[in-house]
Amino acid sequence: MALIHKVLVVGGGVGGMCVAIQLRRQGIAVDLIEQHPNWAPDGAGITISGPTLRALREIGVVDEVLRVGGHWSAADICDSQGRLQLTVPVMPALEADGLPGAAGILRPVLADILGRTVREAGATVRLGLSFETMTQDEDGVDVRFTDGSAGRYDLVIGADGVNSAVRRWVKPDFPGPRFTGQGSWRAVVPRLRENSTIYMGATTKAGVNPISATHCYLFVLDRREGMDFIPPAEWPERLAELLEEFGGQIGEIRDGLRAGTLHDARLLYRPLAGHMVDGPWHRGRIVLLGDTVHATTPHLASGAGIAIEGALVLAEELGRRHSLEGALLAYAGRHYDRARLVVSASGRLGQIEQSGGSREEHTAVMRDAMEKLRAPLR
Ligand SMILES: Cc1cc2nc3c(=O)[nH]c(=O)nc-3n(C[C@H](O)[C@H](O)[C@H](O)COP(=O)(O)OP(=O)(O)OC[C@H]3O[C@@H](n4cnc5c(N)ncnc54)[C@H](O)[C@@H]3O)c2cc1C
Repeated sequence: MALIHKVLVVGGGVGGMCVAIQLRRQGIAVDLIEQHPNWAPDGAGITISGPTLRALREIGVVDEVLRVGGHWSAADICDSQGRLQLTVPVMPALEADGLPGAAGILRPVLADILGRTVREAGATVRLGLSFETMTQDEDGVDVRFTDGSAGRYDLVIGADGVNSAVRRWVKPDFPGPRFTGQGSWRAVVPRLRENSTIYMGATTKAGVNPISATHCYLFVLDRREGMDFIPPAEWPERLAELLEEFGGQIGEIRDGLRAGTLHDARLLYRPLAGHMVDGPWHRGRIVLLGDTVHATTPHLASGAGIAIEGALVLAEELGRRHSLEGALLAYAGRHYDRARLVVSASGRLGQIEQSGGSREEHTAVMRDAMEKLRAPLR
């Protein structure tokens, strides 16, 4: 007999959507609520690492992601003037036959692909909706929603991101994410090169990753004192200042930002925060997924990847265990170390960048983490 028949997923990010798809494939009824009325995440690009592509293949969407996105199997390292110094292969994940080393896509495009798959799988999706209260007993969780409606579920999955509201029901004492000392800048620009490319300045590193046949996204991290608000009207000039030392292609982007000639650049600034929440990741019949328990900085481009992997592991354990408690413990037990690897290695990379530390250590930490993540999920 199935452990659970009816699940509520709170949050329609990558983690929530993927777990909804996998649970529907087991015949479990799924309601998914998403607070945004139009289900549209910010417009920036996202990198999909080799292991993430492997996980998306299991979800059933990798072909479409590769068809509409960009992908690459090598990274070019250039100097600040855009002169090629070195090309390094980007190895595909193990047991990912035929998939490239990595891919990129616009977040709203990925959300659209996954959102359609959620609906086709038969989940009930309610947008512009959150919850007010949850009360659980031995047999279920009663949820009251913000529109006054109510439902009872065998399991609630909190996939509501780094500032999760569901987390209060599982980890009431958790203080919340920590600012990591860096801010992230993103812009969508015409595709400059075939490969992923990093431009090494003396103080700043800028990168571009393809997100389609015609476009790529620019990513730059800078050092910041706090989570200060920067008005969006200032973003073009602030980003241009960060790119001051660059010539070549990045210099042209900077000049375009200043001249206002970069159209539909979808500029985005975010202060970076992260955390790794200790297990267990559930209390009774409420369980946490994705950024709610392991929010990372983007240094390894693997945060979405571990949210998707967590969704695969959670659904698999729910499908094969004989007790709900056993399934939820097994989920966190299997997934914790991979998630912690991403959060802690990404954090270390950020520290090295902020302290102007060793480039050799930076490369070693990145290589070691990527190599471990290539190993298949077991
Ligand atoms: C600047 C930056 C760049 C990044 N780049 C990459 C990258 O290149 N590659 C990569 O793999 N990862 C990247 N990440 C990490 C990645 O974005 C996250 O790890 C990933 O989105 C986590 O997915 P999630 O589903 O757990 O949470 P989210 O994507 O945050 O989704 C949570 C969802 O829940 C909804 N929600 C919130 N509260 C409620 C509520 N109360 N009720 C209903 N709905 C609610 C939100 O609207 C949202 O849709 C990056 C992160 C940052 C900050």
